[in-house]
Order: sequence, then structure tokens, then C-alpha cells
Amino acid sequence: MHKNSIIEINQNAHKNNIDFLKKTFGKKVILSSVVKGNAYGHGLKEFVLMAFANGITHFSVFDVEEAKIIFDTLGNKVTILIMGFVADDDLAWVISHQIEFFVFERYRLAKASKIAKKLNQKAILHIEIETGMNRTGFKISEISKVAQFLIKEKDNLYFKGLCTHFAGAESIANYYRVQKQIVIFNEASSIFSTFELHPKIKHSACSAAAMMFPETRMDLVRIGILQYGLWPSPEVLVSYLNSKKKKIDPLQRVITWKSEVMSVKRVKSGEFIGYGTSFMAKNKMKIATIPLGYSHGYSRSLSNQGRVLINGKRCMVIGTVNMNMLTIDVSEIEHVKKGDEVVLIGTQEKLTVSVASFSDFSNQLNYELLTRISKTIPRKITL
Ligand SMILES: *Cc1c(COP(=O)(O)O)cnc(C)c1O
Repeated sequence: MHKNSIIEINQNAHKNNIDFLKKTFGKKVILSSVVKGNAYGHGLKEFVLMAFANGITHFSVFDVEEAKIIFDTLGNKVTILIMGFVADDDLAWVISHQIEFFVFERYRLAKASKIAKKLNQKAILHIEIETGMNRTGFKISEISKVAQFLIKEKDNLYFKGLCTHFAGAESIANYYRVQKQIVIFNEASSIFSTFELHPKIKHSACSAAAMMFPETRMDLVRIGILQYGLWPSPEVLVSYLNSKKKKIDPLQRVITWKSEVMSVKRVKSGEFIGYGTSFMAKNKMKIATIPLGYSHGYSRSLSNQGRVLINGKRCMVIGTVNMNMLTIDVSEIEHVKKGDEVVLIGTQEKLTVSVASFSDFSNQLNYELLTRISKTIPRKITL
């Protein structure tokens, strides 16, 4: 078992976030917990168990591998929706396990209907519309063909959802682009109506859209980053706070990342520390090494930049982040010894290292930083 570091995920913090989101979006809107990217680094299996205990029964993932992990963990107790990649070879498993999935090309539609027929079980489809992101989705011009096919194959295909995805709702700079996407989505929806096709649900919102554009909430919201206690961008947080009297962030960070001091040593003034010459000791220094590096997801761009907490004090990463090790300046900290707790993300005594502070120092998006945390690190649910 890997013991170099541990990720703790806090069930109460997640419950707090879910309660806030449900209150914001209202009872009629289904909250789908987006758990692609190993649940944004939180650990897929542990995270869905915890989320289920907190009342979540709908999960959205990117691919079949993730869907399988959720199915093996929670079985039929939850709805699983694949928003991205399904290989042809996996369609039979997906359909026979009643896993729902996005369809964005006619090839997939035909293939799904063929396999569903063979299995004698309807495929549960969410038809994705291309509204302006230019990634995946049916164009407006294709919709009548799609509609006709859905009608012809209605014994094999269940048109459960109509959906789209916004290209950058977290920034007001994209305001007009998002507005245009909403118009195109509504147009797609009315074309289906002319064929008497009415999907059970419509959905379009990610975290940012759900907060910034209430009309995008529809029947279901696909919420990733907010449920983890983080904001899609500072802009979305500011816009939320501006609308409220109480200027406090209602969300709580779910993740904590901890390691321990591996060894402590003293260095003479004028010595270089670590590989190369990126850091020279200007005075006598005391250095702690931590058994954690870029192979575990601690970005190399945090060389001479990162901050960690040891004995309740904030300390600097010095020198380059190595593959498996960090060196930390602990000159000012008394009694630091092997085995002392090191907090990479989270709170120790009165201080906190936030996820946002990483982005500031390493130019990584909070999304990127989190999903790069190695899968091999053990995850533990805490209260
Ligand atoms: C990742 C993703 C989401 C969730 O995005 P957040 O910004 O984390 O809420 C929603 N929809 C789709 C299609 C996605 O890929």
C-alpha cells in the first residue's frame, strides 16, 4: 500500500455543498454529480460511496471505465450517464446495464439500435446538440433525420434526454456565445416537437452555467466543480457574492491532501539545494524532504513556488519538485522531525492551503490540478 501521502474526503463538507446546491436550484431540478477524472481527483469509488450516503443518486461520467466502477460500487441504486466516449465493443454492456449515454452522431444511433434489438432491451439515449462549442453534438440540419430514425426505431431506442454543453459559461466574456447556444438549443428542441418527440428531460448546465444562467438549469444540472467545494472561476464566485447580502463563500472544500516529513537536514550557507542551481541557501538552512513529487501529481511548476503546512506554519517548497520528492524550507520551525504531518491541500491548526493558491502559483486550473493527483494515493472518507 502506498503510504507516501493520503487524500481525505470530507463527507460533511460535501453534504454542506449539496444542500447549498439543492437549495439554489430547487427541488424539481435533478442534481447529477459529475465524477469524471477520478471524481476530480477525489477518488471515484470512495467519492460515489460518500455522495450516495449524502443523497446523490445520479452520476455523470466521461467513459465506460468510470461507469463500470460506479456500477460495481452502487449497482442499480443510481442512474449513470456517460457524457463522452463509448467504444463499439462496450455498447452491449452499456445497454444491458441500463447505463444512459450521450449520442452525438448517426453512426452511434444506428449501432445502438442494432445492439438494443439484439439484446431485446432499449438503449437509453441523451441526444446531444451542437450549439456552438464545436466539439460533439448533432447540428440543427441533422435533426429531422435523427428524429425520423428515433421514431422508426422507437422499440429499441428510448429518447430520454436532450442536452448540450456550454463553451465557457464561467467567463462573462462568453456571454453572447452562451446566449446564442441557448437559442440554438431551444430551436433543436422545437424541431423535435414538430415530430411529436418529447424527451423526458432536457439538460445543459455545468456548474458555471447553473449559477450564471438560471434558465439553463432545465430538468437536470450536471454539477462537477461546485460539489467539491470549488468555484469554476473567481468570476462566478464574485457574481454569486454580489447577488447576496452575506458576502461569504457557502461552499466547503471536500479534499485534504497530506504527507509526512521523511527526513530533516541542515545546509550551509552558499550551498545549492536539489537538482541544478535553481535554489541557493543564502544563510544556514534547515531542510525537510517529503516523499511526494510530480509523479504523484504535485506539479513541477510549483518548484520554488509551492507552500505546505508543517507544525501549523506555512513553509516554502525550495528547489525543483522532483519525481518523488519535495524539499521544504523549515529553517524557522522548531522541533520539526521525521514523521511530522505535512499538509499540501487543507488546514492545519489555524492555516489553510487552498486549491486556489495552487492555481495562483502554478498557473494550473483547479480542475487540472485536482485531476492530476495520482490515482495510486489512498483515499479515505472522513466526517
Ligand atoms: C465536466 C462536465 C460538466 C461539469 O462541469 P463543472 O464545470 O465541473 O460543473 C458538465 N457537463 C459536461 C458535458 C462535462 O464534460
